[in-house]
Amino acid sequence: MPTSIQDGDHPSPAAVSAAGLRKSYGDKTVLDGIDLHIPAGSVFALLGPNGAGKTTVVKILSTLITADGGQAQVAGHDIATAPDGVRAAIGVTGQFSAVDGLITGEENMLLMADLHHLSRSEGRRTTAELLERFDLVEAAKKPASTYSGGMKRRLDIAMTLVGGPRIIFLDEPTTGLDPRSRHSMWQIIRELVSGGVTVFLTTQYLEEADELADRIAVLNNGTIAAEGTADELKRLIPGGHVRLRFSDPSAYRTAATALHDITRDDEALSLQIPSDGSQHALRAILDRLDTAGIEADELTVHTPDLDDVFFALTGTTVPGQPKEAVR
Ligand code: ADP
Repeated sequence: MPTSIQDGDHPSPAAVSAAGLRKSYGDKTVLDGIDLHIPAGSVFALLGPNGAGKTTVVKILSTLITADGGQAQVAGHDIATAPDGVRAAIGVTGQFSAVDGLITGEENMLLMADLHHLSRSEGRRTTAELLERFDLVEAAKKPASTYSGGMKRRLDIAMTLVGGPRIIFLDEPTTGLDPRSRHSMWQIIRELVSGGVTVFLTTQYLEEADELADRIAVLNNGTIAAEGTADELKRLIPGGHVRLRFSDPSAYRTAATALHDITRDDEALSLQIPSDGSQHALRAILDRLDTAGIEADELTVHTPDLDDVFFALTGTTVPGQPKEAVR
């Protein structure tokens, strides 16, 4: 049963909206009815284990392949009836990189400028600006095949930006990158968003979604298993609790009798109460403390992390590098 914690009446204009997207390959149903609403200027992360169908969603929305069913608008253009409008408004980078390894980074950029019909001088100016912005000036005259993974991804994004897209699809932009390159990619993504671009990101990395995305959808078994902010998703699964700490032992004891379902730590004078961390649940705890006339010295809400959510929703442990490596 899909869990939807999305607002009912989307007030902000959508950069991407989709309803009931379906796609099968032979007998295999890859997407079994996908709904999306991504406000302009936000970062959306489509999170899912390998093979979940993330790339398939990106390919459909960027008009590289057609859906078997459902409909979608990207930048206000229907993917089925106005694919040219969609293509003019978007940039796509990631697993199907456009970088040509035989020519230099600069030549790749100039080729892109040609494809976008920029004049020679405009093409040169845009290329120089973007090479500078993506820290590729030194490497600009070297064949792209000599670039590191991180440099290739940066060049790929720079090439995408030549056309001035309003919406960028980044398909697993940091898969296989070392931690430093990953952080530099995160910084690039943040800068794109602060420049007003909408980012549609696919990732297998929970940290990445947690770090960057305004909203996250978890794709599993062809459907969106849950959708919301990182905090909303964390609240969906059990394991959250509120911890109250006291310095006054008598206040601690009074609280321990006033509250239900507690786990005591008599040494630390702290109480743990299972809770989803919602406003309603917190108010109930605070009301009980008020009625008993006591005040805690510290109140902290602990929500489970996205790892727990991912596991609970997909039954899959997080693939890829160990957690420490991406921090
Ligand atoms: P993800 O990006 O989440 O790793 P994909 O969208 O690449 O997943 O793939 C989803 C599923 O669809 C996989 O099982 C994959 O093997 C299958 N698939 C993707 N493209 C094709 C294709 N052209 N023909 C047959 N099966 C495909």
